[in-house]
Amino acid sequence: MIGSRRRRLGAWGFEGVDLVAPQPLLSFLNERLGASAGLPRADPARFAIAPPRSLPGALGEGSREPLDRLAHARGQGLTDLVRLRTGTVTALPDAVLRPSSEDEVESILRACAAAGIRVIPWGGGTSVTGGVNVLPGDEPLVSLDLERLSRLVDLDERSGLATFQAGTFGPEIEAVLGARGFTLGHFPQSFELSTLGGWIATRASGQESLGYGGIERLVAGLDVRAPAGKLSIPAFPASAAGPDLRQLVLGSEGRLGVVTRATVRVRRRPPPLVVKGTLLPSWEEGIEGAREIVQRRAPLDLLRLSDAFETEVSLLLGLSRDRALDRIVQRLLSLRGVTEKSCMMLCGATGDGLEESAAILKAHGGVRVGASPGRKWLADRFRHPYLRDSLLDSGYATDTLETAAPWSRLSDLSERVRRAFPEPIVVLCHVSHPYEDGASLYFTFFFPCPRDPEEATARWAHLKRAATAAILAGGGTLSHHHGVGIWHAPWYESEVGRDGLRLVENAAAAFDPTGILNPHVLLDPTDRLEV
Ligand SMILES: Cc1cc2nc3c(=O)[nH]c(=O)nc-3n(C[C@H](O)[C@H](O)[C@H](O)COP(=O)(O)OP(=O)(O)OC[C@H]3O[C@@H](n4cnc5c(N)ncnc54)[C@H](O)[C@@H]3O)c2cc1C
Repeated sequence: MIGSRRRRLGAWGFEGVDLVAPQPLLSFLNERLGASAGLPRADPARFAIAPPRSLPGALGEGSREPLDRLAHARGQGLTDLVRLRTGTVTALPDAVLRPSSEDEVESILRACAAAGIRVIPWGGGTSVTGGVNVLPGDEPLVSLDLERLSRLVDLDERSGLATFQAGTFGPEIEAVLGARGFTLGHFPQSFELSTLGGWIATRASGQESLGYGGIERLVAGLDVRAPAGKLSIPAFPASAAGPDLRQLVLGSEGRLGVVTRATVRVRRRPPPLVVKGTLLPSWEEGIEGAREIVQRRAPLDLLRLSDAFETEVSLLLGLSRDRALDRIVQRLLSLRGVTEKSCMMLCGATGDGLEESAAILKAHGGVRVGASPGRKWLADRFRHPYLRDSLLDSGYATDTLETAAPWSRLSDLSERVRRAFPEPIVVLCHVSHPYEDGASLYFTFFFPCPRDPEEATARWAHLKRAATAAILAGGGTLSHHHGVGIWHAPWYESEVGRDGLRLVENAAAAFDPTGILNPHVLLDPTDRLEV
């Protein structure tokens, strides 16, 4: 449950909410990938679930309920969904613990270290890198669900600093702040189901990161509890007192300790975000327009440039709802020189930024298409992930991967990654989270999903290895915002180097000498894409 809403098991989101894949999208996939039989959904209540191993003392008082354990066995990556849906999850936590205080977190960690019990910190369980996945192992394992650590501790209105406990979900943060006239402005697509602690542990980025910054810019201070240590980093506007330890915790993925609270920089709530669309004549021209907007510091909160394929798919998603209007719009656009190579850019601002960016885009051949695409995108921005489950029903698997690189490499990198995906495949790409020196590239790919879950997992692993190798060879980072988790860990050393890896290993060992905390993420290089 999140508030009064019940989460779906083995699928994205909440019960009672859906987004069914529209027929034009299914026809588009069918044309390019061929027909595919839907992946069956098994009833979790009928899964054969092994009984939990026994746990000492108070640890044995956690939830041992089979469906609760199953719900905490995997995150929200594609193969997590495939395994949960088909009843082929290989390992479950032995208990789900829900501490009600930060001190209780500490005592649980100490007890687990003493008894050699593995612990996976759990925020919202929306990891797409295997970050919360339970792996088979001899030692017992508990999932440490922080949902009861979810309150506002303090709001310093004068300084714009709010302290929340780490298990607070996105909507609660915005509701509490909104009631006092503030916003955090951190809106990842997983906003409704992810937590402040999870965002910090994965270095997440929200869709409005251009205006607000990623979580690494929003966090001013934090508290961490670990089996053999404790950090309490106060919120200073800046500090030259040695290396910035916040940055060590940001992205530590539960390996270093459990973030129990954080102080974040909040702002007075601005007027609602307005998002408008512009069609650019080509991907390269769009990238140049995006670069210029950011480097000239046009005051936008959001920028997202879709390539021609993603533009086409977005139009297909809209078509089902308003076909007649769309046909008129398409006719008008073709009269204005818009072609199938055109790329949609969405720009969002709460102030006057849209005019400035529109003028820049006009110089790059941009054709404004008004507020309708932006309105549609805003209305559905947290609903789009529901499509994944509906597409699996129709036999198509979809997943995403992302990177970031300097502007000078972006176009080449996107092409290199697109070409690296083995056929049959449909690949869409967009630029988002832009900075003055570069931006993130986000790929969404679709492939026919084999009905056998082992084959589906192997197929996905094959695609992921090929695309990740292309990202690294093309000069992109292993991850701009999804993190390393279990699945990217084999490549982590290639990004930070052997000594960089050793530094992080030593930090983890100082706080967690027996290695009980999420031991396979980040630092364990074993390839587990097929588990
Ligand atoms: C549909 C979908 C859309 C997404 N969109 C975005 C997006 O727009 N931007 C983005 O950045 N990411 C996105 N993600 C990825 C994911 O939502 C983020 O990584 C998010 O930050 C995870 O938060 P969580 O609370 O769900 O953490 P979890 O998934 O529960 O945990 C993630 C990792 O952090 C650790 N962890 C969790 N809480 C703590 C804590 N308090 N202390 C220490 N370690 C902890 C876990 O052990 C795990 O390693 C998306 C995922 C999905 C499925």
